[in-house]
Amino acid sequence: MEAKAFRKKLKENILGLDRDFLLSYGDFRGLKSFQARDAYIWLYNRRELNPSKWSSLPISFRKAVSEDFDFSLPTVKKERASSDGTEKLLLELKDGNKIECVYIPQGKRITLCISSQAGCPLNCKFCLTGKGGYFRNLEVAEIISQIIILENKFSLFGKSYNIVVMGMGEPLLNYSNLCKALSIITDCEGLAISRRRITVSTVGIKEILERYLGDERMPLLAISLHSAIQEKRNALIPSKSVLSLIELRNLLQNNSRKGREPVSLEYVVLKDFNDHKEDIEALVKFCKGLKVKVNLIQFNEHPLLNFKAAEEKEMVRIQDILSENRISTTIRKSRGKDINAACGQLLDLERLKLK
Ligand code: SF4
Repeated sequence: MEAKAFRKKLKENILGLDRDFLLSYGDFRGLKSFQARDAYIWLYNRRELNPSKWSSLPISFRKAVSEDFDFSLPTVKKERASSDGTEKLLLELKDGNKIECVYIPQGKRITLCISSQAGCPLNCKFCLTGKGGYFRNLEVAEIISQIIILENKFSLFGKSYNIVVMGMGEPLLNYSNLCKALSIITDCEGLAISRRRITVSTVGIKEILERYLGDERMPLLAISLHSAIQEKRNALIPSKSVLSLIELRNLLQNNSRKGREPVSLEYVVLKDFNDHKEDIEALVKFCKGLKVKVNLIQFNEHPLLNFKAAEEKEMVRIQDILSENRISTTIRKSRGKDINAACGQLLDLERLKLK
């Protein structure tokens, strides 16, 4: 590695550095390549953030690496536990920005919900994160740190769990850092979490969604649809960066033809908004011929959001209609209702109240 490239990375958080960088850094510090690979394994695969414990490596290297890089994690500022077992953590980043991540147990299944941006620029009308404004993209280390923090707190290391990138932010607007983080998360010598256990949720960003679908290394995909009627979808998701329904459907059709895994369509059911007969007919029409499954999501009501949740029997009725049309459909009940922890409603409420 050139000294210039090395100096540029000096004092960066080590969790953002990939295998190639650590191999050349090891070489720069006099390690053999198998030892540099060992450093990568200690860090990510064994989750050992104290380099003095990297016992297979020379003490001089352990000292150098601890001085060259930052090994800190974001600070947990607040924790809220729901009666259903869901726990939300508010993390403070180095620059004072705050993000949230959530631990969601459901029977034996555990899901971790992580954020990709501090705030979100898209301003979806059913989402508190959107209301709170946008601050910045998360660094690779900040994306990976959320998993490490949740693993540590809930003793998850070595257990299987799922990850959903459905917290604060639109992941495809932070595509470069998302890809870098995913390559470390899914690497079998990195965090070693299978891509099939990870779901990235997006509203469908122009140009970038096509790249995502064209890359077989990417995890499962969920599209926040919420309406199959263009005007209503525009009202819910007003951003110009979002694909139209026709463009979205064309991409999903190509994807279905390639025999890829089904894409989930997220549909938050909003009483008297997207639950009418014509809404469900449009949804059925949109899904026909596509390899998709629909997740009907119970809305988490909040005084700052102008929507009401549909009743459970209404959601079952919609599920029945979709099933009659041979569209695989599940109902996702609201989790962490008492702590405002639903995906897309992850927000530092104190900040919002000040607005
Ligand atoms: S729903 Fe997702 S994309 Fe829309 S504002 Fe909220 S966080 Fe951003």
